[in-house]
Amino acid sequence: MEESASRSDKKKVVAVVGGGLVGALNACYFAKRGFDVQVFETREDIRKAKIVKGRSINLALSHRGRSALKHVGMEDKIVSKGIPMHARMIHSLSGKQSPIPYGKKGQLLLQRLNPTEAETYPNTTLNFGRKLSDGSEEEIQADLIVGCDGAFSAIRKQFLRRSRFNFSQTYIPHGYMELTMPPINGEFAMKPNYLHIWPRNTFMMIALPNLDKTFTCTLFMPFEEFEKITTGDEVIEFFQKYFPDTIPLIGVDALKRDYFRLPGQAMVSVKCTPYHIGDKCVLMGDAAHAVVPFYGQGMNAGFEDCIVFEEIMEQFNEDFSAVLPEYTRVRVPDDHAIADLAMYNYIEMRAHVNSRWFLFRKHVDNFLHAIMPKTIIPLYTMVTFSRIRYHEAVKRWHWQDKVRCFKKICHLLFIFHSLAARRNVSDFSNLAADEPVSPWPHAELSDVTCAAGFSTNGP
Ligand SMILES: Cc1cc2nc3c(=O)[nH]c(=O)nc-3n(C[C@H](O)[C@H](O)[C@H](O)COP(=O)(O)OP(=O)(O)OC[C@H]3O[C@@H](n4cnc5c(N)ncnc54)[C@H](O)[C@@H]3O)c2cc1C
Repeated sequence: MEESASRSDKKKVVAVVGGGLVGALNACYFAKRGFDVQVFETREDIRKAKIVKGRSINLALSHRGRSALKHVGMEDKIVSKGIPMHARMIHSLSGKQSPIPYGKKGQLLLQRLNPTEAETYPNTTLNFGRKLSDGSEEEIQADLIVGCDGAFSAIRKQFLRRSRFNFSQTYIPHGYMELTMPPINGEFAMKPNYLHIWPRNTFMMIALPNLDKTFTCTLFMPFEEFEKITTGDEVIEFFQKYFPDTIPLIGVDALKRDYFRLPGQAMVSVKCTPYHIGDKCVLMGDAAHAVVPFYGQGMNAGFEDCIVFEEIMEQFNEDFSAVLPEYTRVRVPDDHAIADLAMYNYIEMRAHVNSRWFLFRKHVDNFLHAIMPKTIIPLYTMVTFSRIRYHEAVKRWHWQDKVRCFKKICHLLFIFHSLAARRNVSDFSNLAADEPVSPWPHAELSDVTCAAGFSTNGP
């Protein structure tokens, strides 16, 4: 009798595998609920590491991510260390810079969130340098295992052995490479509160500011293009042709050296279902749904996983046997929707968008949203600045697109806009070479579809 009472009083143990962005936040969520939390992370403790290995991606944190941080009281702390982004800044071939504001408040750049954040809770133990893998002898004793171990999840591999587990992964032909733009005289080399974009059709570069006044420039390009460049001089030739304004800012020597530091990195989209096994194991973050980065939502979706799980825990009184299936039921359609949106942006933005239409649609969307804020909400606004469920945002976007009156207004406005522009611009032929094109990523998908719809259906 005594033994069973003490057993039920014992705190349940939750093992979080992977102390990346989502694992770190999840550990806080479970610790806040009073579980005994064990985090297992392959990498060493960055507080003790002399050299911090890995890539330095800085990430756009938007509404969903912020809401999840807020729930465990971390929003202010993280936001105070971030850099606000008010708009995109498009760089043309001639070096001309054109800002395109976000529909709403703007986003925030998040620097690293690491598992040590979870240590503020005394009921959390961090186990660094602990890689849990298929062949390992190690057994985790826990009431619940939460797989937050990224796109190549070892925990997910266990799911693959089971019947009725659906899984797909797609590598895209593009890779990415990071280059650093140093400060000039101790100041940012470009305006800091922008997502800088150099859109060049099949490839493009973006740059995001860091707290140390550097910019991280990320070059997205098909692998075959990366491979064509084999010498330092070819790097400079390439940059001279496509990103000439960045050469003095990054530096010739740095470009020649850093281009060859690491090969282009692959990007993968992963979908699976279900996310759980019985009442024992659940996948979250990239382990459940790695998405290509062209909507800036991978981490935001992973953070939202934590808050959705939390909401279901509340609803089902922490009964894992009810919580886990419900989590799969609720979350899979949304994660699949954002994976599709990100992939669609990757494919379609390059194929159909041109700058004139993009800018025009941006104005129209904002105008219509301003006069009918509850009826017309741009897809990008729903995805980035709200917690409307991803799959509902997609449904709503299709509906908005179908509203004939909306289309008609667009077409009419576009005709007026084109006529007005024709009067003002004497030589259209130069525009293709010099104006911004395809401002992906983080651009509105709705722009794409309408652009395609306009040309095929006609006004
Ligand atoms: C170029 C690029 C740009 C991006 N930009 C954005 C953006 O602007 N906004 C956004 O929201 N998202 C963005 N993303 C996506 C975002 O980076 C990911 O969605 C996010 O990092 C996922 O977090 P995670 O914790 O699930 O996985 P990860 O960050 O991959 O963390 C997984 C952790 O698990 C550990 N681990 C792995 N295997 C094991 C194991 N067997 N045992 C123990 N530990 C293990 C790893 O060491 C790692 O720490 C971008 C991605 C890329 C590639």
